[in-house]
Amino acid sequence: MSTAIVTHKDCILHDTGMNHPESKERLIAINNTLKRFKSNKIKWFQGEKINLEHFLSVHSENYINDIKKKSPKEESVRIDADTILSKYSLEAALKATGSVCKAVDLIFKGSFKNAFCPIRPPGHHAEPQRAMGFCFFNNVAIAAYYSKLKYKVKRCAVIDFDVHHGNGTQKMFWDDPNMFYASTHQEGIFPGTGFKEETGINNNIVNVPLPAGTNSLLFKKSYDEIIFPKLEKFSPDIVFISAGFDAHKNDPLADFRLNTEDFFWITKKLNDFSTKNCKGKLISCLEGGYNIKALSESCLEHVKGLIL
Ligand SMILES: [Zn+2]
Repeated sequence: MSTAIVTHKDCILHDTGMNHPESKERLIAINNTLKRFKSNKIKWFQGEKINLEHFLSVHSENYINDIKKKSPKEESVRIDADTILSKYSLEAALKATGSVCKAVDLIFKGSFKNAFCPIRPPGHHAEPQRAMGFCFFNNVAIAAYYSKLKYKVKRCAVIDFDVHHGNGTQKMFWDDPNMFYASTHQEGIFPGTGFKEETGINNNIVNVPLPAGTNSLLFKKSYDEIIFPKLEKFSPDIVFISAGFDAHKNDPLADFRLNTEDFFWITKKLNDFSTKNCKGKLISCLEGGYNIKALSESCLEHVKGLIL
């Protein structure tokens, strides 16, 4: 058995309202596509809630209490222009994070080499004290610190190929030389961070902003020539992926020109890296991706790159 797929049914209940790009239809399509893909190398799991202490490794207690307080009994509240907290959003967010931590447990029990977590709401824009960009809790950062607390992992890397910069993850890792964050993203779009001069306390942050129109060739070159050499030098014990699929050429929110197969390429590269350097330990969690067909097909390519 090589790959665990960990999600939670409550992630579907997060209701962002009509015409919001981050819809439950995204997750429904991904799950349907992955379930149609019959492979004896994958097994499905449901995530579990984790203790508050793990959220506190990256978020402040005030912030968590504030989100709980704002969580509505009926209808929805707007945290910012596009970040919506509905009746079930808090539950969905807690279980999204719990799903990535469950993936960490499965990997460290040794039953699986790697995992993909199709979850929502996404997490990489969530800052220590601020929800933004559809995100409430920083799933990938919490799971990385969870692996440190529970399994005494020393060095974690997060690779973020979402077309947007993961400002939240960068902020959480900035001062910690044992945490590495690398991102390729479109320059000049939301959230407006991710300049190449932003390098963290110990060159543990690597930003590769790329222009609108970036194609497969430039994307691959950025990984081969910039990110992988720095990742190798950092020498992580485990690799996490902030897997956003909005760099696809058909995505409505950005202007990269990646093909569906490029998500196989990057996943296979990261799988090969972790096999060689981290005993295979690789955990991927869903971030963006808003063209439902492109998203679900790209997720399938992603999983095909994990099961090898
Ligand atoms: Zn994105």
